[in-house]
Amino acid sequence: MTMTLVPAPWLDLPADHPFGIDNLPYGVFSTATRGPRVAVRVGDRVLDAGACAEQAGMESGEVWLAPTLNPFLAQGRQAWAAARAFLQEQLTDELYRDAVEPFLVPLGEVRLHLPFEVADYVDFYASEHHATNIGRLFRPDSEPLTPNWKHLPIGYHGRAGTVVVSGTDVIRPQGQRRAPGEAAPVFGPSVRLDIEAELGFVVGDRTRLGERVDVDRADDHLFGVVLLNDWSARDIQAWEYVPLGPFLGKSFATSISPWVVTMDALAEARVDLPGQDPEPLGYLRGAHAPYGLDVHYEVELNGTVVSRPEYRDLYWSPAQMLAHLTVNGASLRPGDLFGSGTISGAAKQTRGSLLELSWNGAEPLTLEDGTTRSFLEDGDQVTLRAWAPGPAGARVGLGEVTGTIVPAH
Ligand code: MN
Repeated sequence: MTMTLVPAPWLDLPADHPFGIDNLPYGVFSTATRGPRVAVRVGDRVLDAGACAEQAGMESGEVWLAPTLNPFLAQGRQAWAAARAFLQEQLTDELYRDAVEPFLVPLGEVRLHLPFEVADYVDFYASEHHATNIGRLFRPDSEPLTPNWKHLPIGYHGRAGTVVVSGTDVIRPQGQRRAPGEAAPVFGPSVRLDIEAELGFVVGDRTRLGERVDVDRADDHLFGVVLLNDWSARDIQAWEYVPLGPFLGKSFATSISPWVVTMDALAEARVDLPGQDPEPLGYLRGAHAPYGLDVHYEVELNGTVVSRPEYRDLYWSPAQMLAHLTVNGASLRPGDLFGSGTISGAAKQTRGSLLELSWNGAEPLTLEDGTTRSFLEDGDQVTLRAWAPGPAGARVGLGEVTGTIVPAH
């Protein structure tokens, strides 16, 4: 376990704050007079990172004056490490008070934007428990896991342009659905709107067409994580997904948290995977054992915590997902985003979707206001929150992602 850094006393920042010096996540903020430009969260304040770097004469920090993280993501692993060292020095040494303090803004005074322009968006399916549950519910007459599931991290390409920042309302999608026992579909608003609690991985640096990212080199491209809610219309999905996979049942909106927590900040959260049997093919095995992440989630629906998923239950590692994504030579761009898939564990209270929690409506959830839910109603608000272990027993906060359902229009 590494030592925690001590914030400069003038910051008045407790060493165990979930957004302390060991975290320093990146986002994009604006106020009436500044931005939008890159922000770094420091406790309950936001650092105008570009202005701070300019003042300090840190030239590579010019990219922080941009309205998205993409130019910074393009700089690559060495620049990310240098940036982190710069920020930690500025925030721990008493010497820099005058250079930093003018560029700190209380969180309550800023608007937070989508932190990066999403290049390509892929969603994986890396939880064995989730895949098994979905198999049982969608294909009750066959084996719950498809024959490929333990040989490759299954994924599909989603819609990058409809990834939205936390707080954005989610419009109930309309589409085709076919009721059980009916021959023909009907058109209308989804009546089975659901969530998927996921972790999103933010990719930086670039690769050439035809280049593969080896599983041992994946960390060069894994910049950080966001909380991700893959809103899903189960009725639209069930009718459309055979044989090419999810399409309109998921492409209407995907919400992410405003703060990108870096992989460097999650160094203490690395854990072994639950175990892979059979052994995957060579390109998914590296020189080092693949790692998972110890991230603890809360899923809150209208103020009631309905689930506590654990990211460490996932079968495939983020490096394996990235190696698989590029094994055919597909190139990476700064701002690529991939979701882990719904995070579900063996226990019912760790399932990451309402479909699984209510077992397709057979076991509705009772909320603290006395109402019941199997799927989402108009006006419902869903919030995912998460944290991971940091140095010296402190917590690294991942913040939250929230969204409210508004009626179809
Ligand atoms: Mn998903």
